[in-house]
Amino acid sequence: MTVDTHRQTLNFQAEVTQLLDLMIHSLYSNKEIFLRELISNASDAIDRLRFAILSDDALAEDDIDYKIRVSYDKDARTITVSDNGIGMTREEVMQNIGTIARSGTHEFFQALTGDQQKDANIIGQFGVGFYSSFIVASRVTLTTRRAGLGPEHGVRWESDGRGEYTLETVEKFGRGTQVVLQLRDDEDELLNGYRLRSIIRKYSDHITVPIVMKSEEKDKNEDERVNSASALWTRSKSEITEEDYKEFYKHVTHDFDDPLAYLHSRMEGTHEYILLLYIPKHAPFDLWNRERHHDVKLYVRRVFIMDDSGQLLPTYLRFVRGIVDSSDLPLNISREILQHNRMIETIRSNAVKKVLGLLSDLATKEAEKYTAFWETFGRVLKEGLAEDHANQESIAKLLRFSSTHTSGEKQDVSLEDYAARMKPGQDKIYYITAESFNTANDSPLLEIFKKKGVEVLLLSDPIDYLFGTEFLKFKDFSFQSVSKGKVDLSEMEDEQEKQEYKKSVDEAQDLVKRIKTALGDEVKDVRVTTRLTTSPACLVVDQYDIDPAFQRILKAVGQQGPQVKPILEINPHHPILLRMKDETDEKRLADWAFTLLDQSVLSLGEHLENPTRFVNRLNDLLSQL
Ligand code: ADP
Repeated sequence: MTVDTHRQTLNFQAEVTQLLDLMIHSLYSNKEIFLRELISNASDAIDRLRFAILSDDALAEDDIDYKIRVSYDKDARTITVSDNGIGMTREEVMQNIGTIARSGTHEFFQALTGDQQKDANIIGQFGVGFYSSFIVASRVTLTTRRAGLGPEHGVRWESDGRGEYTLETVEKFGRGTQVVLQLRDDEDELLNGYRLRSIIRKYSDHITVPIVMKSEEKDKNEDERVNSASALWTRSKSEITEEDYKEFYKHVTHDFDDPLAYLHSRMEGTHEYILLLYIPKHAPFDLWNRERHHDVKLYVRRVFIMDDSGQLLPTYLRFVRGIVDSSDLPLNISREILQHNRMIETIRSNAVKKVLGLLSDLATKEAEKYTAFWETFGRVLKEGLAEDHANQESIAKLLRFSSTHTSGEKQDVSLEDYAARMKPGQDKIYYITAESFNTANDSPLLEIFKKKGVEVLLLSDPIDYLFGTEFLKFKDFSFQSVSKGKVDLSEMEDEQEKQEYKKSVDEAQDLVKRIKTALGDEVKDVRVTTRLTTSPACLVVDQYDIDPAFQRILKAVGQQGPQVKPILEINPHHPILLRMKDETDEKRLADWAFTLLDQSVLSLGEHLENPTRFVNRLNDLLSQL
């Protein structure tokens, strides 16, 4: 291998410069987090080396006394953080330090508001990492050597954070990474051993690797350990403060904000393992990417093994972050073995139960937090209805909806609330699916339900097609779309209403026949409605046909569902229908019939295939009035 000794000057990605500027301004009031971020990176690098050594002893290079060293130099005005972790090659430095190697950069910049307080939060969620050094430093020099490579493979990266950085090959004997911060002019207060120690204890006490500093005592040149360096999750709950939990969360996630909730649980029995799992407050930028890597780290007896690739928790809980530490798995476990490991299956199924339990506790005890959770992650959780049939019942209890009962867009009705409000004799949970909340809420299909005071859930998420397909029952109640089949509220009708309906069907028989002839192949059937009270007509589908909202979703994902013809239901008491009954000209009757059909399509929130035809017919009819 030839060694690349040349010195290169390279440009940051445009976004990096922008990010740096923003970060310096918005995070300044919290500037000491730079140390947390550098220590966090150093500790990750040591974790990765430890794991790599399990399969390649040579990487140990006779130095397995892992530590992170923090030092300062008053004269040179520098702070240095170094580790004997895995280090980086030149390519890795270029990839990791000069770019933002994350998906969602674009979304990130779009999310920024210009308001310092809010932006600080967004930057925090995005993860500040290495770049936070520039909050306090005017120049940063990172020197690193990858474990296993000779000293001539050292690399030095240097930048003042203003758009350019240089890279050069240097000789570096110690394995790992050293970061030197040249402090900005007014940051001298950081050149103080007590100040640095207090920052480390505040943010990084839980780091499992020892963080050392030279003693402050004169003539005593000894290393002193600053952090307690025991794995936080192995301590007993009573010894861990709320603050400790929060700081640990920030370490594992690089999130700047506190978590929304967490659970810490030690499982004993056949398999022993510890779960420390967090629900964040904010969604990551790539939440909708079902392939995104999971943020639960696997440890075996406190040694970091790997980031979860989806084995530790199912996809619908991909917002959960934290760690799982198993006492029984072998240290050299590979990703492939992980996929078919019985122990992992047990851990996973318990972790799911614990997370659902945590959410259920939030829902009953901390309603405000649960609302925040639902608004951020509710749609992801819903995927669980299809993905995790075994836990469907518990997931179902966590769902929240808008409904005709509350009539606001806010989703705050649970299925249990719904069940408690059901009318005597009602055995179905009624719902409507539409493209938007307003289309659902204003739909004529709801008229009879509103009149009778029967609650209907208003569903407008694409994922809601799961209702009635993957998710069929809650307790003993099946789900019934109000746009499917015949509405049967007969349990709630008195004798007189039943007689009236029968009479109107008889009287409209002839009109129904004429409309059916006029519409021909366009519809599957025409019948007298049981749904409408004020509108003239509406469209529905047969009980086992796919409803229009679901058809649209199928189309959107490139699938052509089966051709479904709708059923036109008419309200014979409506003035238009009364008028049609008296219409003797069959051509004009057909114009009326098509107009009713087309307007029913529109009120479903769907598009007309031929809008001009509709408009022309309507204009004709209006001009004859
Ligand atoms: P993050 O740590 O959130 O991924 P950073 O910007 O802090 O983002 O770091 C980017 C990447 O650079 C890290 O993921 C890691 O691969 C690499 N890196 C940073 N610091 C070190 C270090 N001390 N040793 C080895 N690699 C590091």
